[in-house]
Amino acid sequence: MSDSLYREILLDHYKSTKHRFENLEATSKEEGKNPLCGDTITVYTQMDGDKISKISYTGHGCSISMASSSMMCESLEGCTIDEAIERIGRFKKMLLTDEEVEFSDDLSDLEAMTGVKKYPVRIKCALLVWNTVEQQLKGMR
Ligand code: ZN
Repeated sequence: MSDSLYREILLDHYKSTKHRFENLEATSKEEGKNPLCGDTITVYTQMDGDKISKISYTGHGCSISMASSSMMCESLEGCTIDEAIERIGRFKKMLLTDEEVEFSDDLSDLEAMTGVKKYPVRIKCALLVWNTVEQQLKGMR
């Protein structure tokens, strides 16, 4: 993928409001903060048995943290807790290591975040929502 395509994907997610709402019926609500940048995100996860039936977020922060939140919701909704934790692990590995990480076609948007690796300060912004939801899901297991 080219840099301009990556930027376009990030911008689409940044602007997306599909998963950006407070869910009053959420099973669990978890807040994450990145004091370095001022990003504050709350994740609302609604479970149906072991499955994430609805996932959304509210908050404010830089474009990277917001785009990453939209991507996270898009890729984890419908997953079981174990599947979600596996996807979170792969996303983190993509940003934190030099290992080649591949995603299936329906998750290929996530690869757009690799551009962030060039800016170490921004990696925390991209990972904030993923660490927040990981903590939340591990608490449910
Ligand atoms: Zn940020």
